[in-house]
Amino acid sequence: MPEPDQATLARREEIVAALCLIVPGEGVIDHPDGLRPYESDGLTAYRQPPMVVVLPETTAQVSAVLAWCHANKVKVVPRGSGTSLSGGALPLADGVLLGLSKFNRVLEIDYDDRIVVVQPGVTNLAITNAVEERGFYYAPDPSSQIACSIGGNVAENSGGVHCLKYGLTTNNVLGCEIVLMDGEVIRIGGRQLDPAGLDLLGVVVGSEGLLGVVTEVTVRILPKPETARALLIGFATVEGAGQCVADTIAAGIIPAGMEMMDRPAIHAAEAFVQVGYPLDVEALLIVELDGVEAECAHLLGEVERIAFANGAVSVRISTSEEERIAFWAGRKAAFPAVGRLAPDYYCMDGTIPRRRLPQVLERMEQLSAQYGLGVANVFHAGDGNLHPLILYDANVPGELERAEAFGNDILRLCVQVGGVLTGEHGVGVEKRDLMPEMFTETDLKQQQRVKCAFDPELLLNPGKMFPQLHRCAELGRMHVHRGQVAFPDLPRF
Ligand SMILES: Cc1cc2nc3c(=O)[nH]c(=O)nc-3n(C[C@H](O)[C@H](O)[C@H](O)COP(=O)(O)OP(=O)(O)OC[C@H]3O[C@@H](n4cnc5c(N)ncnc54)[C@H](O)[C@@H]3O)c2cc1C
Repeated sequence: MPEPDQATLARREEIVAALCLIVPGEGVIDHPDGLRPYESDGLTAYRQPPMVVVLPETTAQVSAVLAWCHANKVKVVPRGSGTSLSGGALPLADGVLLGLSKFNRVLEIDYDDRIVVVQPGVTNLAITNAVEERGFYYAPDPSSQIACSIGGNVAENSGGVHCLKYGLTTNNVLGCEIVLMDGEVIRIGGRQLDPAGLDLLGVVVGSEGLLGVVTEVTVRILPKPETARALLIGFATVEGAGQCVADTIAAGIIPAGMEMMDRPAIHAAEAFVQVGYPLDVEALLIVELDGVEAECAHLLGEVERIAFANGAVSVRISTSEEERIAFWAGRKAAFPAVGRLAPDYYCMDGTIPRRRLPQVLERMEQLSAQYGLGVANVFHAGDGNLHPLILYDANVPGELERAEAFGNDILRLCVQVGGVLTGEHGVGVEKRDLMPEMFTETDLKQQQRVKCAFDPELLLNPGKMFPQLHRCAELGRMHVHRGQVAFPDLPRF
């Protein structure tokens, strides 16, 4: 990498000095060794050390950092725990990385209203940990929940195995405090579902750190169900498993979780956690049912019946809480387990209509042969959300490029069969250039107008999500006619 010139060095010094005044003590990192841990997120194929890292502790500091950067036209990338799989938190060489890891406190628990107010750096699992002794939990459960932050979950609208029944982050977040790029602090949403005004919360959840920095989150918590039991169902064909999913949902049963793994994923997971997954099947379904005891028992029987009607070759029903957790252990550890099959893997995330699964898996096998790279599949079957894990070795010249081309073909395939580019991992840098496969130029411009309304200088997390960023002025200005009476014909009181 070429040495930075004098002007760049002077600019960096100026920025570091300003940040040190706003966040004194150990809140600013600019030594190359200190920057190294921040150079990538979960999409490790991309690496770029930031110019400087700032770790504020208060909303006032976040506001002052953003206001200074805004006034001095410095780009900012927000970062939670850095587990994004789409490169959403990838730093910029000429930008400030704003880490939220010091925002790690649970601020309020209100069991009567069933809400918890947290700072954005609190991990997803820590919310459940804070309320479980009273029998409550926070429903969205990404596999990364031990590490990922709730601020990152809000930015990515993260999901998990229990989102089929209980919704994604967007269905479980009630309100946020957000700092805009110019330093202004706003509150959106509230403490109840559907507050008054435009649904800006719906706009911000899933906006991948492009609209503002989330500094406080209010989530709803749910009482733990009386019973939860899981079935482990083996199928000789993927088609049988896919049809079982479709028939279960068509029967009006919404399981708490419904996950599918293909043969390579089953074998990798079993070797990793040894929980007794059947190894002589082509597809494995894990189906969880929860609720009151009698309802659960009835639905277990129904799902078992539907499974056998679709050619299930083995069914196990958990008989204890330990066994239920063991059934899930392999699925939850599927990513690290697959990591043992090859030096590197590239985790894709696309969504398809459930009925298209056999067709998509068949095509994926052909692509696997075409690119000469293996693939293992774990799948949020109930939601149609695919996670193909492409196996490659970054040390073999050309394999990363082939893995990316293979991944792009899978995502195109998802769109072609009527699905979407991402289920829960976001667009980031990874899928940015595929956005036109899904959206027209007009669609994309309209989305960018929203970005411009929040961040007209395009300083917050630029380079993510949009394949091309138009200057906001090019998209047309909003005309404000000050002093004009809005509705001259309406009677006044
Ligand atoms: C092993 C593994 C398993 C995973 N499993 C799942 C899964 O089951 N489901 C799922 O949905 N995802 C999963 N992920 C992806 C990832 O964990 C989620 O996207 C998560 O929400 C990212 O949170 P984070 O705190 O790590 O955010 P980061 O990676 O730090 O950032 C992600 C994005 O959010 C923005 N951001 C972060 N914090 C803020 C904030 N306070 N304000 C504004 N913007 C912010 C960043 O700019 C970036 O665009 C997995 C990742 C890994 C590595």
